Amino acid sequence: MNLILLGPPGAGKGTQAKRLEERFGLVQISTGDMLRAEVKAATPIGLEAKAIMERGELVPDAIITAMLAARVQQPDAAKGFILDGFPRTVPQAEALDAMLAEKGLRLDHVIELKVDDAALVARISGRFTCARCGEGYHDQFKPPAVAGVCDKCGGTEFTRRADDKAETVGARLAAYHRQTAPLLPYYAAQGKLRSVDGMADMSAVTAALEEILAPAA
Ligand code: ADP
Ligand code: ADP
Ligand code: ZN
Repeated sequence: MNLILLGPPGAGKGTQAKRLEERFGLVQISTGDMLRAEVKAATPIGLEAKAIMERGELVPDAIITAMLAARVQQPDAAKGFILDGFPRTVPQAEALDAMLAEKGLRLDHVIELKVDDAALVARISGRFTCARCGEGYHDQFKPPAVAGVCDKCGGTEFTRRADDKAETVGARLAAYHRQTAPLLPYYAAQGKLRSVDGMADMSAVTAALEEILAPAA
């Protein structure tokens, strides 16, 4: 099974992708995580992407589609993947369709997480991540059970993304509405689009996704 989680920054794509990975044996492919790894390693892609990401704009399609094509070739992608943060433009979606057709693969579902802009600002500004295992947290909505200690691995170091600050959030939301929202009619026309209420609490969103992916008999 191959699917896309579509939605604005902070909608809960990463949170839900991690849960679906475990539940359905899929692999999460996050172009944002891949780009942050390139930036950290100061690769040529990372050097080009860093300033663009910090401005809250989109990295050029050619870079992203080449990076994604290489990722989808890796053996773990054969069990099925959850695309998180890709595609983000119509040209990326067209490139994905061509890539999948060439490999004889199909896209089973495209699921939109619908969240209001006002809620997104609060989600993005409270987001942080365990530096050791990558578990995601939120100051208000998902604090660790013991303050300063990761629930999952016991790590005590956390990171906040350079672009998760109030000044950049507006640019990221604008990029979503202008460049990514056109994917909704694109996938609706393919008969693949489903929408889920992303304003609900995390487990209610997971339940709604599971119902789409494995409907109760
Ligand atoms: P979020 O989880 O908040 O939606 P991501 O981690 O997916 O953000 O992306 C962070 C940044 O990385 C984006 O603002 C953009 O600059 C860049 N990026 C990630 N994926 C793509 C993509 N598919 N196309 C262009 N830029 C991307
Ligand atoms: P995305 O990958 O779409 O950018 P994340 O999964 O990183 O979004 O979620 C953004 C922030 O909001 C994180 O801090 C996460 O813990 C929190 N969050 C995710 N889903 C919900 C939800 N349904 N209700 C409240 N907070 C949420
Ligand atoms: Zn951890």
